[in-house]
Amino acid sequence: MFYEDLLHRFTEMSRAVLGENLIGVYLHGSLAMGCFNPQKSDLDLILVVEEEISAEIKRRFAEKLLQLNEEAPEKGFELSIVRRAVCKPFVYPTPYLFHYSNGWRKAAMENMEKYIADIQGTDKDLGAHFTILNRYGIPLYGPPVEEIFAPVPKQDYFDSIWFDVQNAAQDILESPVYIVLNLCRVLGYVRDDLVLSKSTGGEWGIEHLPERFRGLVEAALGSYTSDAEMVAEQEDLRAFAAYMIEEIKRIWTADPKNVTGAMLTDMGICPTCYSRAHGNCFFPNAAETQLFENELFECSLVDKPRAPGHTVIVSRDHYKDMMAIPEDLCVEVYRFARKAMQVLKEVYGAESVYLCTMCDGPMNHFHVQLIPRYAHEKRGSRNFVKPRIDFAEDIDKLKILREKLKNA
Ligand SMILES: [Zn+2]
Repeated sequence: MFYEDLLHRFTEMSRAVLGENLIGVYLHGSLAMGCFNPQKSDLDLILVVEEEISAEIKRRFAEKLLQLNEEAPEKGFELSIVRRAVCKPFVYPTPYLFHYSNGWRKAAMENMEKYIADIQGTDKDLGAHFTILNRYGIPLYGPPVEEIFAPVPKQDYFDSIWFDVQNAAQDILESPVYIVLNLCRVLGYVRDDLVLSKSTGGEWGIEHLPERFRGLVEAALGSYTSDAEMVAEQEDLRAFAAYMIEEIKRIWTADPKNVTGAMLTDMGICPTCYSRAHGNCFFPNAAETQLFENELFECSLVDKPRAPGHTVIVSRDHYKDMMAIPEDLCVEVYRFARKAMQVLKEVYGAESVYLCTMCDGPMNHFHVQLIPRYAHEKRGSRNFVKPRIDFAEDIDKLKILREKLKNA
C-alpha cells in the first residue's frame, strides 16, 4: 500500500495523543478503494473517539498532524474525528469534533487557536465517507468497521453526494474534472445502486452514458489519472451538467420513499405538487383534515398548527408568484378566506383570525394561511410565527366546520 509507513506513524501519533479515548483509526477514500493517485488523491481517514476532546489535546494533535502532513502526497491528509455515538446509529448531518484538510493548512499555521475553535460542527460529506467506509474501509487501528459503523441510510448517502453536485451548472466551469466525475458517481448510484469513487464513477460514465458525452468523461478521467489539464468547451460542459442533473432528479424522485420535502425544495421541485402527483405521500391524512374543495383550491386544517384552528387554503395549480395568479382564483380564494375566518372565529372562539400568504418560485406553492388569535394572545405579527403545536383532532368541530363551509 502507498504511504504505509506514514500511515503507521500517523496511527501511533494518534494513539499517543488521544490515549484511551481513541477507539479506532479507519482509512477510506481512494487508497482504500484501490484507485489512489499520488498527484490527485488525499489520505482519507476517520478517527473515532469515545468522548469529547479538549482544545489542548486538539492543538497537540493538529501540531503533530501538520508535521506528518509534510510527508503526505500533495493533497495531504483529509480527516475528521467523530464520537462513537454518531456512528451507530448513524447521525446525519454528522457532528464532528475535529477536521483537517489542506484547505485548512494555512489557517492552522497562522492562528492555531482560532482554527481549533472553527473546525467543529456538522458535515454532510461524512454521509458519503461513512458509506465508502462501510464498503471499503480499512481499520488501521481498532475494531472491525462493522462493529463501529452502522449502515448509512440511502436518503442520507444521496443527500451527501447530491450536496456536492447540486450547483453543477455553475461549478462545472470552475472544476470540470471534479464535477464531471462526481456527476457520474451520483448517477451511477441512483441508476444502478453503485457506490463509486471519482475514477470508478468516470469508468461507469464512459460505459453507460449516451455516446455524445463519452469524450468529455474520458477527458475528465484522463486528467484525473494523470497530470494533464482537462480541455473542454464550456458549451459541452454546460450541456453535460444539465443532462446529468435532470437524469439524477428524474430517477431519484420517481420513488417517494427516497425524498423529503426539504430535499425536493433543494432540487427546485414543489413538494405540494409532488405530493399530489404521488398519492398525497407527504400528507397521508389529508382526507381527514380537509374542510372544503372545489376545482380551484382546497382547504384543510394544518397538520402542525400554530394555533387551534390554523387552516390553509391551497391552489390546485402552481404559480410562480402572486402576480401570476388568475383573477378568478384570486377573487374566489379571498372570498372563501373571509368566510372561513368568520367560521373559525365562531367555532374556535378566536378573537381574530390573521391571514398570511406566500407564493414564490418553483418550490413555493400558492397557499393562504389562516391563523386564529385568541383573547389571551397579544395582537401583532408574532402570531404568524407562533410555535407549532400537535394537531388535536376534534371530530365535532371538524363536522361543524365542513358543514358551515359547504356552501361558502
Ligand atoms: Zn406546486
